[in-house]
Amino acid sequence: MAEGGHYDIVILGGGSGGYACALRAAEFGKRVALIEKDKVGGTCLHRGCIPTKALLHAAEVADSSRESEKFGVRTSFEGIEMPAVLSYQQGVVERLWKGLQSTLASRKIDMIYGDGKLASPTSVAVNGATYTGDHVVLATGSAPRSLPGLTVDGVRVITSDDALRLDRVPSSAIILGGGVIGVEFASVWRSFGAEVTIVEMAPQLLPLEEEASAKVLQRAFRRRGIGFELGTPFQSVSYTDSGVQVTLGNGKQLAAELLLVAVGRGPVSADLGYEENGVTMTRGWVDVDQLCRTSVPTISAVGDLINTPQLAHVGFAEGIGVAERLGGLDVRPIDYDGVPRITYSDPEVASVGISSAQAAARGINVVEVNYPLGGNGKSVILQTQGQAKVIAEAPATPGGQPGRVLGIHLVGARVGELIAEAQLIYNWDAEPDDVAALIHPHPTQSEIIGEAHLALAGKPLHFHA
Ligand SMILES: Cc1cc2nc3c(=O)[nH]c(=O)nc-3n(C[C@H](O)[C@H](O)[C@H](O)COP(=O)(O)OP(=O)(O)OC[C@H]3O[C@@H](n4cnc5c(N)ncnc54)[C@H](O)[C@@H]3O)c2cc1C
Repeated sequence: MAEGGHYDIVILGGGSGGYACALRAAEFGKRVALIEKDKVGGTCLHRGCIPTKALLHAAEVADSSRESEKFGVRTSFEGIEMPAVLSYQQGVVERLWKGLQSTLASRKIDMIYGDGKLASPTSVAVNGATYTGDHVVLATGSAPRSLPGLTVDGVRVITSDDALRLDRVPSSAIILGGGVIGVEFASVWRSFGAEVTIVEMAPQLLPLEEEASAKVLQRAFRRRGIGFELGTPFQSVSYTDSGVQVTLGNGKQLAAELLLVAVGRGPVSADLGYEENGVTMTRGWVDVDQLCRTSVPTISAVGDLINTPQLAHVGFAEGIGVAERLGGLDVRPIDYDGVPRITYSDPEVASVGISSAQAAARGINVVEVNYPLGGNGKSVILQTQGQAKVIAEAPATPGGQPGRVLGIHLVGARVGELIAEAQLIYNWDAEPDDVAALIHPHPTQSEIIGEAHLALAGKPLHFHA
């Protein structure tokens, strides 16, 4: 392990944002120190994206074995052996973690393990040593948040960190928060056999998603027996002999074995020397400009620590952008509307661009089409329901072609994989007519993208008006 020293770039925090910055900076020949107090890979690899998606995959296998008779295949579902699920999940994480460590080593990045603190605009103190850099990148990420008066005990009232370590399937769970994390855990636990109720203050699940997508998800969840209370604030929780009792703002009471608090994540920025060294912050988030520059010229910040969408690929993009800027490249600001978003529940919800409500709020005239998955051969084979909604600028002249595609919103099994094409359409400013000319392979779910654009371009194929 290095003992202090000078680097081109010192990065505090080895999660998605920090390590992506380190990897790209090394490609410019920069000497990089990456400081991490726990495990490189951060939330995404150890407590987020990867372990949750492993659980969701196990959930899909459980559902497939339960429902196999539908396809004429006789199996019997015997139950969930949680320690074995956790060992599969941990195996996936360990393998990726090893791979990441060897990639960082191969780029000659110095890993420094310890609790770091910004000591000056150009240095970080760790384990009694000081690491100075021409530039410092803050990437200390985020941690689960709770509500005022709601104490997380890690046993009956838990966060996603605790939920990922749970060595049993709860018989019942109340999930506070119907955002991505809440919806994904509801999906997993229901597939594993739990009774689940989501409590969400907004009028829809996935409040940041297109309303039409949320409605389809809610219908699907209702069919799966997942309960939800929408537009209802949480009021209090008390312990019972067998678990918890939650009281809602409307007086309703719900009882379950445990309460998962999934009300969002806050920045990890307290007591890290940021403000003392002139870094301005708003409610704990580090303030940055469009190129992730903080108020201190020698300091940048990336990932969940800044108030941009809390996604690993946003952290990657910001980290890479900072490395390229410091490497002398002309970097363009990120269009955050163009970042693809996926909720990996059953069914999946995926989107890029803006929703109908956002278009209306921005005063943009749009045309829209909803293509149901019922008209798509592969989706019928998979027995999944859902839709593809595409939003484009209204034609400039009556009878003309629609303009730029502004939003693509998908719901259904496996649609997350389709959002990569959707993001190319959005980010390359394609118009429906451009996409309509592209041939999609049959029978695939990707045809829903082609069909929706054919319909918007005025030449629908398999589409009932
Ligand atoms: C349950 C869950 C599921 C998720 N699923 C997805 C998903 O499917 N797709 C997706 O894109 N995103 C997902 N996310 C979000 C994603 O994990 C985050 O957006 C991403 O990890 C942010 O990266 P980051 O580098 O900003 O922060 P982090 O990953 O949190 O990394 C910050 C790192 O800094 C370290 N650190 C903090 N303070 C110090 C210090 N003082 N000294 C040294 N090191 C320090 C921490 O130990 C940590 O390793 C999920 C998150 C959760 C919680």
